[in-house]
Amino acid sequence: MAPRIPFNRPFIAGKELFYIAQAVTGGKIAGDGHFTKSCAEMMEREYRIQKVLMTPSCTAALEMAAILCDLRPGDEVIMPSYTFVSTANAVARIGVRPAFVDIRPDTLNLNEELIEGAITDRTRAIMPVHYAGVGCEMDRIQAIAAKHRLQVIEDAAQGVNASYKGRALGSIGQLGCYSFHETKNYICGEGGALCINDPSKVDRAEIIREKGTNRSRFFRGMVDKYTWVDVGSSYVPSELSSAFLYGQLELRNHIAERRKEIYQFYQHHLQPLEAEGLVRLPRIPADCQSNYHMFYLLLPSLEARSQLLAHLKQKGILAVFHYVPLHTAPVGQQFGYRQGDLPVTEDLSDRLVRLPFYYDLTEQDQMEVVDEVQAFLSRKATRRLAA
Ligand SMILES: *Cc1c(COP(=O)(O)O)cnc(C)c1O
Repeated sequence: MAPRIPFNRPFIAGKELFYIAQAVTGGKIAGDGHFTKSCAEMMEREYRIQKVLMTPSCTAALEMAAILCDLRPGDEVIMPSYTFVSTANAVARIGVRPAFVDIRPDTLNLNEELIEGAITDRTRAIMPVHYAGVGCEMDRIQAIAAKHRLQVIEDAAQGVNASYKGRALGSIGQLGCYSFHETKNYICGEGGALCINDPSKVDRAEIIREKGTNRSRFFRGMVDKYTWVDVGSSYVPSELSSAFLYGQLELRNHIAERRKEIYQFYQHHLQPLEAEGLVRLPRIPADCQSNYHMFYLLLPSLEARSQLLAHLKQKGILAVFHYVPLHTAPVGQQFGYRQGDLPVTEDLSDRLVRLPFYYDLTEQDQMEVVDEVQAFLSRKATRRLAA
């Protein structure tokens, strides 16, 4: 049976469907039409990014980024193990070893103090993941990268419209990757973007995105025929997706406000439980402007986490957890990693719960989630006192 309060629900905020109709009647629904260009230009302007190329997913953008960094078999890339599988697959698929580094206990972001210890003479890049839309410690990461001549690819899948020291996430490393998957803040079903902050990578990125051809230059009248000039794939999204996305991006401030309200409601009502030491809530460092991508709880143990999820499910509420740390997954083990290698990642991933969080979440439903979390945790506390 479907839960009464789902974990996520795709939403429409404005003119998304109207713009899809416009794209269809306008006679162009393949890639790089009016809406695809409008989405990219809006983000270049708003987030001060040299060049934004829309892609069919963040996974595709990460793959492009790995190609653009000239990674070769045997190279290593530093990244967290506490992330979505695409961060690691982008490099593993071309024979590159993900060098997993533990996370910070406060933000669950890559622990910048552990990066230098993981650098070897094969290290080529660092991939910070901005977990929950909260920026990694980018000043430190950029300084380490500069010192060791490494590229920085930001996995900003969860970081669209968030910033670190006033700079948009995705605009700081040489490359950044966004997601517009239906579970993210701004959505179009499946979608993404590659942010290029290193101007020397723009021409090649356009070629890789157009199946390895110089088609973009041909359309701009810069060459008189287009042909096969490099490796590449089909990394151009449908104009239909971009039309939907444009309807969301033009309302980005309104959508951001709504998410902030939802976050603050949880924060306000669950803070007393944190004060009692029953649960830990998310932290946002002063240098970071969050986009309020998610609200999570850290329970005292794996057992408590499983019990809370079961309790909420029984009440018709779908809360979820993630990620299975990549270093303990089957492929991570093939790379030689073992349980126990990254203690903070292993501990926190066992105890984390994500609460329902979506644009159309009503205050009444949200209150119900809060009430059920409170009921579960206070009952547990009472039992503990009695024991
Ligand atoms: C969602 C997500 C991705 C993948 O995004 P897609 O657009 O679904 O390919 C990659 N990395 C992180 C951290 C994510 O949260």
